[in-house]
Amino acid sequence: MSLLVIGTLAYDSIETVHEHRANVLGGSAVHFGVSAANFGRVALVGVVGQDFRPEDLDFLEQRGIDTEGVERLDGRTFRWSGRYEADWNTRHTLETQLNVLARFDPKIPIAHQGSRYVFLANASPEAQLKALSQCEARVFALADTMNFWIESARDALHEVLGKVDGVVLNDEEARLLTGERSLIRAAHRVRELGPRYVVLKKGEHGAFLIGEDVQYALPAYPVEEVIDPTGAGDSFAGGFMGYIASADSIEPRTLRRAMLYGTATASYCVQGFGVEGLRPHSRGKIESRFNELLDITAV
Ligand code: AMP
Repeated sequence: MSLLVIGTLAYDSIETVHEHRANVLGGSAVHFGVSAANFGRVALVGVVGQDFRPEDLDFLEQRGIDTEGVERLDGRTFRWSGRYEADWNTRHTLETQLNVLARFDPKIPIAHQGSRYVFLANASPEAQLKALSQCEARVFALADTMNFWIESARDALHEVLGKVDGVVLNDEEARLLTGERSLIRAAHRVRELGPRYVVLKKGEHGAFLIGEDVQYALPAYPVEEVIDPTGAGDSFAGGFMGYIASADSIEPRTLRRAMLYGTATASYCVQGFGVEGLRPHSRGKIESRFNELLDITAV
């Protein structure tokens, strides 16, 4: 499998109505990597500070993630803290400390510059652009972003959108990016900016794929007890891209199946704090939820 992710490695502080945890291993590239690694080996490019715990790097390696592209700089690791309302759908960012991320200048190791599938996880659009320029062999690049970057780096983000094949956005981001209330209209506006495919993530209400040759909607897997939704979006993207890269295809049928794999993977992510919900060797469990989702949506 030829899959590369560029994004953040973080220490997150998360408040839910039940629990408060500080300095949990997280970050967009970490959630993505751990999820995608169920489908094959993933290469990760990101930056950490001197405080990044060696056991966290070992953990990523043990999960089948190549960390050669993780650079260590002087300073502290990126930190993010957030609080969820009781309904889980509303998240408040309490603090974003860029720390070493402010100096992130991604260098893709030579061994991974030929990667066929690339995920630009949530990071500054400038860093996303630098990473993309080093991946000329890509056949499919998917980007993610966040309100933080839509508000602070809109022009660079538009440039990213002009160069990728797909983008994943939640409803709030799609509206903020386009100014459209209607999500479907927002998706079409986003496609006009460049990407051939837009995946709209609607949290517990599921996800919608809109592309030139495909339209596909899926509910979320019905999870009885959510523990922590942090990383659900990246985990969805990890299952989605992991499957696409392992199938080495972007046929409409593959993209539809990838939506099911993304949904099944994200459902495990929300069942634990940070990356705890995604246990090693979850592929069999992902397959079983894939089949359940097929059953739920069948007529
Ligand atoms: P998600 O819940 O899928 O949106 O992803 C949450 C993850 O994104 C957390 O682990 C954070 O560390 C990371 N994150 C939060 N804010 C940012 C940001 N501005 N840029 C990059 N990553 C971020």
